[in-house]
Amino acid sequence: MNSVALITGGSRGIGRGIARKLCENGYDVAVNGVREEDRVGDVLEELRSFGTEVIYCRGDVGSRTGRDAIMDKMRSHFGRMNVLVNNAGVAPRERKDPLEATEESFDRVMRINLKGPYFLTQAVARWMVEQKEKSASYAGTIVNVGSISATIVSPNRGEYCISKAGLAMHNKIWAVRLAEYDIPVYEVRPGIIKTDMTSAVTDKYDRLIADGLTVQPRWGYPEDVGKGVLSLVQGDFPYSSGEVIMIDGGLSVQR
Ligand code: NDP
Repeated sequence: MNSVALITGGSRGIGRGIARKLCENGYDVAVNGVREEDRVGDVLEELRSFGTEVIYCRGDVGSRTGRDAIMDKMRSHFGRMNVLVNNAGVAPRERKDPLEATEESFDRVMRINLKGPYFLTQAVARWMVEQKEKSASYAGTIVNVGSISATIVSPNRGEYCISKAGLAMHNKIWAVRLAEYDIPVYEVRPGIIKTDMTSAVTDKYDRLIADGLTVQPRWGYPEDVGKGVLSLVQGDFPYSSGEVIMIDGGLSVQR
């Protein structure tokens, strides 16, 4: 029986890259997003071409009803879960000086980037613990997709940086809490990855990368993050729970 992975925000960008890598390597996958299922037909078709089972779990990770819908579908469709990748995330709609920041934007970013992963992890962890208690051979892993913004300050995207700094602590808290069940928890921390999230700043980063922002002189791609997550869930880092794996082309090495 294949292992089952839920990838939040798996319908585009980095999440889709992670989903692709897991499907290629024999995982049954649930991709999550907020769009209607008929808008992600191409994604499902591509992922299903690798031959494993792929479903779409629509739901806003930042809302209780959204998380309940995701969990209900996982339970009714697969009835088991081995991997949770907390990847869904949003940037502020507008960059704003902290002196002008709005509560609406702060609440939206925190709700999706921090509260969502925390309480989805709680729901999944309870289920993983149940599964572990029923079967000693059960293997579960949780991966959080953080950001270099957890430590590199961009004042005009303050709420985003704060959410990712919070996610770094969320990662440690769950690693400590789930250690007794042998469920490792990791953070991958991408740098500048070419997705819709960075499409508005392509020219700026083209220039910065050419000027040496990263040690490896190129953009990162969803595939780079997918490979990192695959190695974690396949057990290549068995003695590293709670750790952060940088996937940033060496950007942070120079900071
Ligand atoms: P994209 O904007 O390309 O994709 C965002 C994904 O998240 C989509 O699948 C979207 O679904 C989903 N999503 C958005 N809001 C919600 C929600 N409320 N509930 C469930 N799903 C939601 O982003 P990226 O792929 O670039 O980013 C993915 C993660 O990586 C984020 O956490 C981001 O912070 C992080 N990251 C990105 C970097 C980058 O350079 N791109 C760098 C470092 C970290 P839908 O398709 O339905 O809209």
